[in-house]
Amino acid sequence: MFDVSRWRQIQAVLASLTPPREIRVIAVSKGQGVAEIRAAAEAGVRLFGESYVQEALEKQEQLGRTDLEWHFIGRIQRNKTRFIASRFHWVHGVTEEGQARRLSEVRTGDGRPPLPICLQVNISGETSKGGVSPAQLPMLAEAVAQMPGVTLRGLMAPPAPLQGGEDAARRHFAALRQQLESLRAAGHSLDTLSMGMSGDYPLALEEGATLLRLGTILFGRREN
Ligand SMILES: *Cc1c(COP(=O)(O)O)cnc(C)c1O
Repeated sequence: MFDVSRWRQIQAVLASLTPPREIRVIAVSKGQGVAEIRAAAEAGVRLFGESYVQEALEKQEQLGRTDLEWHFIGRIQRNKTRFIASRFHWVHGVTEEGQARRLSEVRTGDGRPPLPICLQVNISGETSKGGVSPAQLPMLAEAVAQMPGVTLRGLMAPPAPLQGGEDAARRHFAALRQQLESLRAAGHSLDTLSMGMSGDYPLALEEGATLLRLGTILFGRREN
């Protein structure tokens, strides 16, 4: 069940940050039913994150609302690109030029504004984590910045390493912020650091997150 008091608590923490910063929270609703999403929307949540295209489309349809902002946070499969570009308002986790190009082509053709995207960076270098390597990031950003149907807004962090505790998580987030800063120095105007999940969002906030992705802490445990 969606935990309204937890949501309010987190909003209060965000509102009390000094100096004030604008932080947005994506309620990650993968594995949650439409009743939970309705309850969250009732409490004022507007941003929802989904990882599976088919599941998300079904829930969007059942909800039949136009006031919600849908963020795609899963793996971008080639054969789902059309749905991702047409049914989501944001896409996190772009890792390759081809993905961005296909998203851009869909958006360019349909008369809608460019799709805001974040590039996922494999900060830790673990092979199990998807993402562009820090070495390849500047080239990818340069290529994506030329595409008319997408707008590069920032970077997304994969989950922080499980080993190494708080220090490792903090270094992970700080490293992503540094990547964002070097892209800015190279002339990209970027405003988004999508990092921090239920287990580590306070650290991510301290390291400069602007967009949190919170699932379990808001909805409880999920089925997938
Ligand atoms: C599931 C998921 C989340 C939410 O994780 P919680 O630990 O439940 O907060 C955030 N980001 C991504 C990319 C996810 O897949």
